[in-house]
Amino acid sequence: MLVAALGLAGCGDPLDPLLEVTGPTMGTFYSVKVARPPAELTTETLRETVTTVLDQVIAEISTYDPTSELSRLNADPTTDWVPVSAELLDVVAEGQRISELSGGAFDITVGPLVNLWGFGPEHRDGTVPDAAAIAAALERVGYDKLALRAEPPAIRKARGDIYIDLSALGEGQGAARVASALEARGVTDYMVAIAGAIRVRGHNAKGAPWAIAIEEPTPGQRSVHRIIEISDGALSTSGDYRNFFEEGGQRYSHEIDPKTGRPIAHSLASVTVIDADATRADGLATALMVMGEARGPALAEAEQIPAYFIVREDAGFRVVSTAAFQRYLRE
Ligand code: FAD
Repeated sequence: MLVAALGLAGCGDPLDPLLEVTGPTMGTFYSVKVARPPAELTTETLRETVTTVLDQVIAEISTYDPTSELSRLNADPTTDWVPVSAELLDVVAEGQRISELSGGAFDITVGPLVNLWGFGPEHRDGTVPDAAAIAAALERVGYDKLALRAEPPAIRKARGDIYIDLSALGEGQGAARVASALEARGVTDYMVAIAGAIRVRGHNAKGAPWAIAIEEPTPGQRSVHRIIEISDGALSTSGDYRNFFEEGGQRYSHEIDPKTGRPIAHSLASVTVIDADATRADGLATALMVMGEARGPALAEAEQIPAYFIVREDAGFRVVSTAAFQRYLRE
């Protein structure tokens, strides 16, 4: 699993306590830190709040749970309107907005290709599929094959075999929903991290902005590349250096270009995005990653998206950072 950003928070102080819970979720791990918690919040009630919310998100949008609302929609061959929860519709709508913004580089209907290349819930054998299978999967891909209706919430597929994959948004959605639940309990200072999707508000236990590490994008290693500081917002990192297989000396990553039907083939190693909304930050990081080291920074700069790109070079890495990202970088 991609864990591209690690939260670095100050240790607890008896006068200024920090509650912290960690655990498994969505095939990866969550970590939640609360500084200056409300009196009634304990480690146990914090854990219960977090796991209840994350289990609910999984029940809505996981393709790894065959009983989830999304899995039932994917398995339904109808091309009629299917009533869905407002929560599922919201995530799908965010995906559609990012598809428009990225000119189709981001596409939640990419699921058949993700599964074909072995990066989905089915068994992964780490081999390159044949061209006919890629062409057949591509027939089912295209965000314009989905119609959305707000009132009452519903989704209509243009083909019965459309398969929606919300993995590029799900960790961000989890972080956003946990953050809302914490705020509803009166929490004002928190960091919620689900793998590389992070939502923070307020300050850490030492009264400083939350400090988050961007990892060096090197397979099999865990080292800090840069530290960023943020006190309100969401940050997400996507990369090609954790979830991939190699064949014939070539790396095939889980980020799929919906135009070619193949894993991205460029030198961009990771992208970190900051946004007010954690679901959008998560999706934008994948979108810019798929767009690559030329088109990604150009879009981010034009849209004033705070984004930090690490590009692989023959000897080390080159960094491209948008102007909007600069203020978050610790010197
Ligand atoms: P990101 O960059 O955030 O997303 C990459 C993923 O997005 C790819 O793996 C693919 O699924 C999809 N994608 C690829 N190309 C595109 C594109 N062009 N446009 C849009 N999307 C694209 N994994 C397990 O092993 N077991 C589980 O039980 C499990 N449960 C999960 C439950 C939920 C609710 C979610 C959201 C994910 C779950 N996962 C599970 C999946 C796992 O956590 C994924 O690897 C993760 O969601 C992908 O996130 P990332 O940060 O690694 O990569």
